[in-house]
Amino acid sequence: MAMTTKKMDSALAKLSNHEIIQKGDRAVQSRHELSIEILDCLVEIEGRSIFLKEGYSSLFDYCTRRWHYSPPKAGRFIAAARCMKNFPDVRDLLARRKITLCGVSRIAGILTSKNSDKILQEVSGKRFVEIEKIVASLKIAPKTRESIRPIGLQEPAVGRDRSADHEDLFQPNRTLENYQIDSNLVDDQTDQLGGNSPIDSPNKKLEHRYEIRFSASEEFCRDLERAKRVCSRSWNLEAIIGRAIKDLLEKRDPERKEVRRKKRKVRKQSKSESQAQRLGKGNSPVKPAAVSGSRTADEIESTGEGAEGLPVRSRHIPAQLRDAVFNRDKGRCTYTSSLGIRCDSTAHLQIDHITPYCRGGEHSLENLRILCGKHNRLAAREMLLTKR
Ligand SMILES: [Zn+2]
Repeated sequence: MAMTTKKMDSALAKLSNHEIIQKGDRAVQSRHELSIEILDCLVEIEGRSIFLKEGYSSLFDYCTRRWHYSPPKAGRFIAAARCMKNFPDVRDLLARRKITLCGVSRIAGILTSKNSDKILQEVSGKRFVEIEKIVASLKIAPKTRESIRPIGLQEPAVGRDRSADHEDLFQPNRTLENYQIDSNLVDDQTDQLGGNSPIDSPNKKLEHRYEIRFSASEEFCRDLERAKRVCSRSWNLEAIIGRAIKDLLEKRDPERKEVRRKKRKVRKQSKSESQAQRLGKGNSPVKPAAVSGSRTADEIESTGEGAEGLPVRSRHIPAQLRDAVFNRDKGRCTYTSSLGIRCDSTAHLQIDHITPYCRGGEHSLENLRILCGKHNRLAAREMLLTKR
């Protein structure tokens, strides 16, 4: 490698300035042509859902995992490919080098069938900064791609949720009126705001920090403002949103639900054991529900019995089984391509019957798996094709 680079350097050194300029121009032109070829391929890869069949959850996943594109580069190419597909004039402008790929990705989110002719005419031949100005003057907010990006080590942010260390600010008796700012938090804030840089203070604890981006509706912003008012004034956005996420996970995370279920079972068992002991030795433990002769809907559904005690088939998958499937598959899509590439998507997950329910497939751990929405639809399409 080192030799090749060295040889190339000496070859270039022998060229005149004019020859270097021409060589550079040719390289740029061929790179430009290759980019359009890549965009054409992306249009087909998306149109034929090739990325799904190959085990990728999205076109973005395909570009970043298979082609090793950086997320911004993948985003630019995908936006440009979709734009080119919807507005064929864009391909023409690109081919004639009247617009760059960056320029196309900048206008992609604002083009509509009504405004495309006018906007494309305006941006044709313009540099990227000029295109940015044109887009800004139109006052149409471009779509924001959701992202979570590591930004390195930093001191912990000021105004985080300290309810685990102090008292719970969400307790019902802690209203806005009787709330006083926690003096510890204020001390922390002033200390950190006027603090030194992490390098100056080696004793300060550093942590990995991330930048999270997404756009939100007006209603979201109103709710966030309201949450800010009902929480401690020292809480920042991270503290508020973090607390909301914790509450949501507490209710919906299958792992936590499983732990709660086990605790409930242990409590129930020890309760019936102590009841049996009270009734006298030799009596077998009796379940309270069986005594009253009524069972909960969940219990009936999980045993698959009808009102008369006869087995019935129901599409409903008991919550306990759903959670067990989720935990076993580690909350990720399990679709794997013929070449062994696994999807791994954690978005829009659905429970799928390997042998379909309509063909007698059971609700069992062995017959259930997690697929993302896209792979579930693909599996359904493939199953329909095999049926024919
Ligand atoms: Zn998937």
